[in-house]
Amino acid sequence: MSYVKEAFETVKRRNPGEPEFHQAVAEVLESLEPVIDKHPEYREARLLDRIVEPERQIIFRVPWEDDLGNIHVNRGFRVQFNSAIGPHKGGLRFHPSVNLGIIKFLGFEQIFKNSLTGLPIGGGKGGSDFDPKGKSDREVMRFCQSFMSELALHIGPDVDVPAGDIGVGGREIGFLYGHYKRLKNATEAGVLTGKGIPFGGSLARTEATGYGTVYFLSEMLADKGFELKGKSVAISGSGNVSLYACKKCQEYGAKVVAMSDSNGYIYDKNGIDLDLMIRLKEIERKRIKEYKNFHPEAEFGENCRDIWSLKCDVALPCATQNELNGKEAEALIENGVIAVAEGANMPSTAEAAKLFQERKVLFGPAKAVNAGGVATSALEMCQNSMRYSWTFEEVDQRLHKIMVNIYTMTKNAAKEFGMEGNLIAGANIAGFQKVAAAMMSQGI
Ligand code: GLU
Repeated sequence: MSYVKEAFETVKRRNPGEPEFHQAVAEVLESLEPVIDKHPEYREARLLDRIVEPERQIIFRVPWEDDLGNIHVNRGFRVQFNSAIGPHKGGLRFHPSVNLGIIKFLGFEQIFKNSLTGLPIGGGKGGSDFDPKGKSDREVMRFCQSFMSELALHIGPDVDVPAGDIGVGGREIGFLYGHYKRLKNATEAGVLTGKGIPFGGSLARTEATGYGTVYFLSEMLADKGFELKGKSVAISGSGNVSLYACKKCQEYGAKVVAMSDSNGYIYDKNGIDLDLMIRLKEIERKRIKEYKNFHPEAEFGENCRDIWSLKCDVALPCATQNELNGKEAEALIENGVIAVAEGANMPSTAEAAKLFQERKVLFGPAKAVNAGGVATSALEMCQNSMRYSWTFEEVDQRLHKIMVNIYTMTKNAAKEFGMEGNLIAGANIAGFQKVAAAMMSQGI
């Protein structure tokens, strides 16, 4: 049995009941076969066995009181996966679907994504099965304070630096940071990223994942002689990744025709009215259905996954893991999709990703495509260390350069290992190489 297969068997045996984690590991390990063939010393150092095992996993109780005085208990997680190239870095997800396996898949992906940014950040992820939806601001605040009471014991600007993810935005980061500062009696701005601008946040961090997704997409298209201008785009989700991917697509002259939330999708053949979408989703926290009240000519569909049955040139899955399966990939291909770029983490099932590649659809994998968010988080840490801040344009220019570089590295790594055009393998290999070299240098 090859070392790669052997390592994967161990993962399955050791982590029962964690299908998303298995899926993420399987994809990376498969890409690494030629790298392991070239480096027998990795096998000898049991490098794969070490990289698939988190350095530390913390699970904790999060009790909190709602506005009526009822007590609730949620579960908190922080998985500190790998610190070979820098402090653990990765978001916090607050969503009822969160469990250890989900956090592990996200933390594992984060190792390679963070490495691809070229910045010194290791991999980690955390979160809770708490659902901020329908909770008052005060309830969210009390939850965040309770969550931080424990998390603060395990993080620090040089140890582990959380940020946002699904269900954790500026409001939550503000509450979490306020409580960390209270507990430490110190300003350690670099302990969290995605902070508000008045207290150490970076300009362009909110936009970064969405903008970065489109910078990558545009490189990928240009490389094959296409341009985004004039293309129709379907973007799933309506969180900050989707909203700012939409904004950048529109700036590049593309027409975004559809967006979604967990309760349905909107198809607007005239192009999405982004100001309205931002107001409804970001400010008023309403359902996407409300869009129709302002644009009655737009169509609303109740099943959010039907967004993949629409005709579009470009598809940007920016909502959540496994939101696009083989059947849906098939429908997109039948409808003539040219490119798919993953703004969310692992949004395509393994079957969907394989189909896109086999049928010659340009396919940008999540680790590379959505790395702009965490890259800008690292730029936020950098500004915090300098006690200085850059302008929006300075941060955006750095982000753009990072995304172009990620595309080039990904493409070149695939070519070097005989898999030209396979950006999934390219991203996994390019991300792995730096981490592997660091782990080899640092001893067992
Ligand atoms: N949650 C984002 C991601 O999946 C951002 C993480 C961060 O900024 O640390 O990469």
